[in-house]
Amino acid sequence: MTSLPQTRHLATAVPGPRSQALMSRKQAAVSAGVATTMPVFARRAEGGIVEDIDGNRFIDLGSGIAVTSVGSSAPLVVDAVVDQVRSFTHTCFMVTPYESYVAVAEQLARLTPGDHEKRSALFNSGSEAVENAVKIARAFTGKDAIVAFDHAYHGRTNLTMALTAKNMPYKHGFGPFAGEVYRAPMSYPFRDVADVDGAAAARRAIAMVEAQVGADNLAAVIIEPIQGEGGFIVPAPGFLADVAAWCRANGVLFVADEVQSGFGRTGTWFAIEHEDVVPDLIVSAKGIAGGLPLSAVTGRAEIMDAVHAGGLGGTYGGNPLACAAALAVIETIEGEGYLGRAREIESVFRERLSKLQEADARIGDVRGRGAMIAVELVDPTSGNPDAALARAVAAYAHGEGVITLTCGTWGNVLRFLPPLSISDALLHEGIDVVAAGLEAAR
Ligand SMILES: *Cc1c(COP(=O)(O)O)cnc(C)c1O
Repeated sequence: MTSLPQTRHLATAVPGPRSQALMSRKQAAVSAGVATTMPVFARRAEGGIVEDIDGNRFIDLGSGIAVTSVGSSAPLVVDAVVDQVRSFTHTCFMVTPYESYVAVAEQLARLTPGDHEKRSALFNSGSEAVENAVKIARAFTGKDAIVAFDHAYHGRTNLTMALTAKNMPYKHGFGPFAGEVYRAPMSYPFRDVADVDGAAAARRAIAMVEAQVGADNLAAVIIEPIQGEGGFIVPAPGFLADVAAWCRANGVLFVADEVQSGFGRTGTWFAIEHEDVVPDLIVSAKGIAGGLPLSAVTGRAEIMDAVHAGGLGGTYGGNPLACAAALAVIETIEGEGYLGRAREIESVFRERLSKLQEADARIGDVRGRGAMIAVELVDPTSGNPDAALARAVAAYAHGEGVITLTCGTWGNVLRFLPPLSISDALLHEGIDVVAAGLEAAR
C-alpha cells in the first residue's frame, strides 16, 4: 500500500475533467434520488485526505459522515478484512455462526455504559439497528408507542422515516409512515428561551408525553445524545438524565441512538457518557467498523433476551468481514489513543471557531463535543437560520479542496467530523479555508 501524501492539493479545477465525465455517466445510470455532496469521485483515502480521480487531494472534515473515524483503510482494519476475506466471506450467522460476531458482542458489552449484564444483536445499517431496537422494546414492554424528538434523525426506512423529524429530503412524498410514533420537544440551548435549562426542557418534553401518549402506552423513548443530521444539537446539561429517570420510573425504555455520536467520536466511547446516563438500549453503526457496513443494538440482558428465538436477524447482519473490521477498529482506537485525540480535535476547533465567532455575528453558535463540532449560521439581525450562507461556505470549501458537510433542520449548520487520524496541520488548514469561505460570502 503506497501512502497518500497528507497535503491538500488542487491538480485541476473542482470538479476536474474525469469527475465531470463520470458525473455524466452517473446521471445516466444512477437514480437522481441519490445525490452527492461533493462533485468529485474518490480514488483513494487515508489519514485526513481524500484523493479524487483527477488527482485533487481534499482535507477530509466529513469522514464519510462520521464513519471512517480511524481513517480510511486504517492498517489494522485492512489486514483484518484481508485475512477474513481469504478464510470465508459469509456463512450467515443464523446458519453457521463464527467467533468474530460473538467477539464484537463481547466488546460492545465492555465498551457501552453500565456494568449490568448485556447482550447485542448485529445488523447492517443504522436504520436497521434502530428498527430492531424498536422491535426489541415492544417485545419486552408489550407496549406500542415510541417517542422521538424534534430535529431527530434515525434513518430512511419506513419506521425510521417516521422517527426522523425533517421532511425534506428524508420523508417528502414517501408516506404513509409507520404508526404509534410521537414527537416531543427537544432541548435546544441556542434556540430555547433563556430560562429553559435542561431540567425545564425535560419537564416540557415529559409533560407532552404524559398528556398526549401516556406512559402505559409507551414502549420507548429514542434520542440521539447529540443530534446529528438535525444540527449537532447538544441538549442542555441534565436534560438526558431527567428524561432517562422519568423513563425508568415509568416502565419506559430509554434508547440512545449513538449511530453518529458513538464509537469514540466525541472523546468517550459513547456521547451519553458525558451526561452520566446509562441507556437501556444503545444503537451503534457508522464509526463501528471503519467503513464496512455494520450496526448493533446493545442492551440489558433481560430486555435483549425477551425476544423469541429467530425474532432478530437477517442474511448479512454481523457479516464476518464487518466483524473483523470492527474488532480492528476497537484495537486501533485503544492503541492510538483516539478518545484523547477526539478531545484534542475539539480544542483545536473550539479555539479557532470561537475566535471566528467573536468577529462574525453570522456565527450564532459553536457547539458539539470531540470531533463532532458545528457552527450554526444565522442572519445577525433577526437570528433566523441562514441556509444560503451554509451552502455558500460549503461550496467554497469544496472548490478549495476541503470536504465539509452541512446539516440542521433548516440546513444552516456547518458540521465538522474529521477522522481522528487527521493531523493538526490539516485541521488548521481546513479551518483556514472555511474562514476564507465565510469572508468570501460577506
Ligand atoms: C446515519 C444515522 C442513522 C441511519 O444510519 P444508516 O446506516 O444510514 O441507516 C440513524 N441514526 C443516526 C443518529 C444517524 O446519524
